[in-house]
Amino acid sequence: EMAEDGVIWQNGEFVDWDDATTHVLTHGLHYGTGIFEGVRAYDTEQGTAIFRWEEHLERFYQSGKPYDLDIEYSPEELTEATLETVRRNDLDSAYVRPIAYFGYHSLGVSPGDCPTDVVVAAWPWGAYLGEDALENGIDVMVSSWRKHASSQIPTNAKTTGLYVNSLLAGEEARRNGYAEAIVLNKEGNVAEGPGENIFMVRDGEIYTPGLSESILDGITRDTLITLAEQRGYEVHDDVSISRGELNTADELFFTGSAAEVTPIKRVDNVTIGEGTRGPVTEELQQAFFDLVERRTDDHDEWFTYV
Ligand code: PMP
Repeated sequence: EMAEDGVIWQNGEFVDWDDATTHVLTHGLHYGTGIFEGVRAYDTEQGTAIFRWEEHLERFYQSGKPYDLDIEYSPEELTEATLETVRRNDLDSAYVRPIAYFGYHSLGVSPGDCPTDVVVAAWPWGAYLGEDALENGIDVMVSSWRKHASSQIPTNAKTTGLYVNSLLAGEEARRNGYAEAIVLNKEGNVAEGPGENIFMVRDGEIYTPGLSESILDGITRDTLITLAEQRGYEVHDDVSISRGELNTADELFFTGSAAEVTPIKRVDNVTIGEGTRGPVTEELQQAFFDLVERRTDDHDEWFTYV
């Protein structure tokens, strides 16, 4: 549920939710020329805190680079805008959505003198794939759609236009009765989910596709690698994973700011491990929630308190 009586930060000002609109001839609407972030603020024992804000903000600016999308606000300004958005909407926990896009001026594909509009919104958003998904895992389908190769479009930039591919894969899966998709890359290896990175557990070791597999360099992916290594797991984060390896994995799970840590119980109706949340997934998922809800003082540098 979006906070329809809330406020949204738009180009330097707070505007009422319903007034945060843009022109129908906005460049970004026609050509997908925007970049965005998806961030969570958690209701922690020390108050509301944004998880890994600095890394999200860094990726936000980096995502604009291939498009010469110049964000005229400094990191300090966007941080203050974001904290104030969470405060003014009176949110204990929130999903935070910064977005920057080429705005209204002209409609050549070249953005020319289009302004860069910058917006930050926040609203409550529960478990992305449902509470039950976090506990019991989900059924996923390997999509018939391939992920765009990083030679075709920068896949390490969080560009709005990229998400038509995510929509195709995700909706194909849901039409077929699955909760989510796994998307293969152009080479036919496992890339990621439509909005998630993927991890595999086999013989007590952990594997996740490397950054050259046309994936987004997920911040939750990095968090899980860190948590797993701290617990003594061997993590292979620079590998290719073939489609067939999915079936023989002991455990599989998705990670993402929205999806958090979501176990995968079946792939194309083939049961993974015991068909439940596996023990390594459970341990790391618990570690993740203990971290983000601050039941530990580990990695306090990852939190920006509201
Ligand atoms: N891959 C894609 C395509 C995504 O959209 C996301 C969500 N941002 C992720 C991976 C996970 O990234 P993060 O953990 O930084 O949210």
